[in-house]
Amino acid sequence: MSFPRPGGCECEAIRYQLTSDPITVYACHCTDCQTATGASFALSMYVDRDAVELLRGEPKLREFDLSDGRVRRALVCAACGTALWGKNRNLPELLNLQPGTLDDTSWFRPVGHIWARSAQPWVTIPPEALRYEKQLDDPLALVRAWKSRPDTPLPAVRPALDT
Ligand SMILES: [Zn+2]
Ligand SMILES: [Zn+2]
Repeated sequence: MSFPRPGGCECEAIRYQLTSDPITVYACHCTDCQTATGASFALSMYVDRDAVELLRGEPKLREFDLSDGRVRRALVCAACGTALWGKNRNLPELLNLQPGTLDDTSWFRPVGHIWARSAQPWVTIPPEALRYEKQLDDPLALVRAWKSRPDTPLPAVRPALDT
């Protein structure tokens, strides 16, 4: 596994690269996420803000007022509407990357699944993943699970194998 990893929006007006390993990756099966994505669950890949480098284009900040008073902030492509990443006011140093916008999505899988109680009935949550029926009580558990996943990349500097 290596970085940078390129990605972009559907119309390719915006291209970016992810330059380092994420903080964690998880899936949310809450009904809000099902509605917002129009799909079965939302994937969240938290990354350092500095780990996303724009290569082309400039996503636009869109703020969406939700019926319960929350505001969803998303950086989207103004041309095609693809949401690229979100911003969380409580975590200003991180971005919530939409990992489906990466060109290659084969190298990650969510280490945790939240709001499993409302997962669509055909969705199977792998037994090795962290499972939460509702909201997360300890977000750091997802960070630890990501760091200890079996396919964690090796550190950049490795001892020589031939000595
Ligand atoms: Zn686009
Ligand atoms: Zn959700």
